Amino acid sequence: MRAPNPAFLPLLLASACAAPVVSDFAVRDTEVVVDSVAPFTTRPDLPARLESTLAVALEYWDGSWGDLAGFTVTLTDDARVTCRGVASALGCTDGDQIRIVTADPGAGTFHCVEQTVLVHEVGHAVLGDPLHRDPRWMAFDKVAEALAGRPGYSGDGEAACDLFVSVWRHPLGER
Ligand SMILES: [Zn+2]
Repeated sequence: MRAPNPAFLPLLLASACAAPVVSDFAVRDTEVVVDSVAPFTTRPDLPARLESTLAVALEYWDGSWGDLAGFTVTLTDDARVTCRGVASALGCTDGDQIRIVTADPGAGTFHCVEQTVLVHEVGHAVLGDPLHRDPRWMAFDKVAEALAGRPGYSGDGEAACDLFVSVWRHPLGER
């Protein structure tokens, strides 16, 4: 789980309403559900961008595609996802379900899938480690280097896909 700092954000009760699924596809043996209208999710390069981002994340976590086989990755416009009782997460890996939000609570809608907490959640898919004990939860510089320089998209066209390791990091030893 990757949660925002609760000191700055109110905890919101999860809404039960389900938005319609607007598209979906598979990357290797992982299903992808796009429940979002963020511009980057509507671009034809999304499957390739997801696959290459997952590949970088799997390498970082010493995982393999088999670790993600049977998983479903859902991109949601919801501001938060509920994660094992916590209602304010930006992403969650629960069983074989990975849900990630498509907007940062401070910076607004992400411009590219690389900016989401996906690389963090892949760590949970590979390691488990719900208490974030592995030191890699506080690193990610290699991930940022590997994913740098890609285009992003806003409602006006191309936009910066700047990467911030703080989005992916989590204090060690905390849920
Ligand atoms: Zn986490």
